[in-house]
Amino acid sequence: MEVDSSELKIERNPTRSVKIGAVTIGDGNPIAVQSMTATHTQDVDATVGQINALVEAGADVVRVAVDSRKDAEALAEIRKQTTANISVDLQENYRLAEDVAPHVDKIRYNPGHLYHHEREKPWQEKVRFIAGIAASNDCAVRVGVNCGSVDPDKVDRYSEDDSVSPMLESALEHCEFLDSLDFTRYCVSLKDSDPQNVIEVNRRFAEQRTDVPLHLGVTEAGMPPDGIIKTRIAFEQLIGRGIGDTIRVSLTVPNNRKGEEIDAGRSIIADIAAGRVRTVVDYGLPTLNIISCPSCSRVENEAFIELAQDVKKMTEYAREHALTIAVMGCRVNGPGETDDADLGLWCAPNFVNLKRGPEEIGAFPYDEILPRLKQELDALIVEKSCQPS
Ligand code: SF4
Repeated sequence: MEVDSSELKIERNPTRSVKIGAVTIGDGNPIAVQSMTATHTQDVDATVGQINALVEAGADVVRVAVDSRKDAEALAEIRKQTTANISVDLQENYRLAEDVAPHVDKIRYNPGHLYHHEREKPWQEKVRFIAGIAASNDCAVRVGVNCGSVDPDKVDRYSEDDSVSPMLESALEHCEFLDSLDFTRYCVSLKDSDPQNVIEVNRRFAEQRTDVPLHLGVTEAGMPPDGIIKTRIAFEQLIGRGIGDTIRVSLTVPNNRKGEEIDAGRSIIADIAAGRVRTVVDYGLPTLNIISCPSCSRVENEAFIELAQDVKKMTEYAREHALTIAVMGCRVNGPGETDDADLGLWCAPNFVNLKRGPEEIGAFPYDEILPRLKQELDALIVEKSCQPS
């Protein structure tokens, strides 16, 4: 659905730039879209085939898992056969960094995994090792914190129902340590399977470390379309406020459909930039914020699409007022999702529901809704005494 081609001017967080092979993230660069191979890394032909298919689908970076020396050896061969920007996922054996770094552009380690091998050795020594290897091999690093494997010391410090604070503390601690080593070519990810946790932990991190590029993702998002929707919910709230420098949409799809992760990532970014969102996003702009859902099979009246365009045109006169108007396509998400907008419309088969915040004003036929919306908008402008910016 094309509602509007003009992109919102989202102010991005002032993160520093981090080079990953031929791609640079952070510092206002376009948000890089990533995916990950799901082949057995030692099956070189299959892995190279999947990497190249992902690049063809538009992947900026492709991640490959390496769990053993045999995987690392395979990676050396894979590198010879592709020019893709490759990131490697180190699991528990951090020492493999040494074997893989010459063949990749980025190394991801998980702070929660540094406890399994060489338990007597402090994690700082292990991170110093990884950072040293990365620096001498022209590699970036990702500190990848994951809700399922958080540093146990951090988990113990918080109550059981607070899963966000341990992740945040772990990430901040690793950033501080990498900084102390003068290693700044890194980004951070804070992933959870609950989109609300992803929003909260990334927001809190970005507030404290505006300089560190963030890799966004929702883990175990599942199969499309649900997996895409979950991810979209988190990304809308983060990217809409300038948070996020690279993304991955993790989907449970067969190997030959992995490119769908890239397609989904790119369309989510494009939709956010154009104001086509499923959740009410406050872009933090000092102007009128008109958002409309990207539409899906749940739309019950095609007139919704025209309505979204008409709302945009009709409200043009109020563009300098910082108010949010949400236009949603269905009764499934419309009623709840519009609660956070100043004025919300959601479309039923034969009428449009109008709301002012969470308060319902009424249901109006499609050909009567625009004047009624204008009446409410005028009243709101007077009431809020919004000053032109
Ligand atoms: Fe689909 Fe309804 Fe969400 Fe619009 S609001 S994208 S129609 S579920």
